[in-house]
Amino acid sequence: MKRNGTCLITGGRVIDPSQNLDTHADVLIRDGRVAEIGKGLKADKAATLDASGCVVAPGLIDMHVHLREPGFEYKEDIASGTRAAAHGGFTSVACMPNTNPVIDTPGVIDLICMRAEEAGVVNVFCIGAISTGLEGKDIANIGLLVEAGAVAVSDDGKGSQDNYVLRRALDYAKMFGVPYISHAEDKRLAADGVMHEGHYSTLLGLSGIPSASEEIHVARNAILAELTGTPCHIAHISSAGSVRIVREAKARGVPITAEVTPHHFALTDACITTYDANFKMNPPLRSEDDRQALLDGLRDGTIDCIVTDHAPHSWSEKQVEFPYAAFGVIGLETALSVACNELLHKGVLDLRGLIDRLTCAPAHILNLNTKGSLRKGVDGDVTVFDPDAETTVNADTFASKSRNTPFNGWKLKGAPVATVVAGHVVWNARAASKAEA
Ligand SMILES: [Zn+2]
Repeated sequence: MKRNGTCLITGGRVIDPSQNLDTHADVLIRDGRVAEIGKGLKADKAATLDASGCVVAPGLIDMHVHLREPGFEYKEDIASGTRAAAHGGFTSVACMPNTNPVIDTPGVIDLICMRAEEAGVVNVFCIGAISTGLEGKDIANIGLLVEAGAVAVSDDGKGSQDNYVLRRALDYAKMFGVPYISHAEDKRLAADGVMHEGHYSTLLGLSGIPSASEEIHVARNAILAELTGTPCHIAHISSAGSVRIVREAKARGVPITAEVTPHHFALTDACITTYDANFKMNPPLRSEDDRQALLDGLRDGTIDCIVTDHAPHSWSEKQVEFPYAAFGVIGLETALSVACNELLHKGVLDLRGLIDRLTCAPAHILNLNTKGSLRKGVDGDVTVFDPDAETTVNADTFASKSRNTPFNGWKLKGAPVATVVAGHVVWNARAASKAEA
């Protein structure tokens, strides 16, 4: 990855919630950092990016992706995953530890950082395991993981099933100032469910995953966050009950935050009537009432940020009967369009609110002090997007190695236009040639 780029982004509407900015101006990035925002800026020898008719925002941050490297490179690798991120308007991603080997030693973090430096197109941050091998028994050496660069700890994919182990791990995480990201799922209660337990699981004769399996863990996390004082972040929140528990805990001052994926706020379990495994994910798509509660949570700030939970799977892992298909869908290349279409144009969030949940909020949760803002001196990461551009999702054109999207063929309003990382234009939809770093 090249750093220290110089670039002038001209003629756009600059919106930066971190400094309450909404103005028509140029943005100059010099030597990889934001140098100036103003009208009629000039810069010698700078690459110029025409952003007229577009919004210029701090670079989008996806704090929940699965890059699959090391171990599952047939699904995705750091090069393809970060290219997909750039195509989607993301300048930074945080990758989950369920790789092989698991991110439970500094060596794996070093490997990922090295690969991201060589092959990566956008910034990659690592999330360390909270337990060795994600087995939920022995606490990982969180101190060493943080020293190696981990920005959070999580047992994503598994959920911490032992309250005692989690309590000790939270005490430990607090010493090193990193948040815990919770995959909230009681595995015993979720049992062998393959979709949301409700009207449609009964109709289709498929085994269900009750909302309670998520809500019990969200409540447990709120209680342990209060006990330990360690920030707890609820990954991919999906049910009305979970939103209610987070809202109540926040109101009492508990250090708890939450994220939602585009598939959870855009789709419901009614989609599964086609038996298409691209609607199979964990947590599952829930009911329309749950979806409405997620939208309310976004509106009132209970849900802090939007993430993709980008989970690439090969064709053969999805093209099987629904109960046997792998859980998870990709999302990096559709997230911004789905968010514009479903949240901005349907009046759930305004531009400022939407940008906040994709930039400032994740930067704040992960303590990324030089990201999620266009303040002078911070990293020159910028996303240019057109909230009104009409686009049709075509999975065949994705940079990701995988195609497991539930949005293929969807017509959406809103699309990324260009992605700038440290002053380098790493992707530009308007230039036919893709100048990828
Ligand atoms: Zn998860």
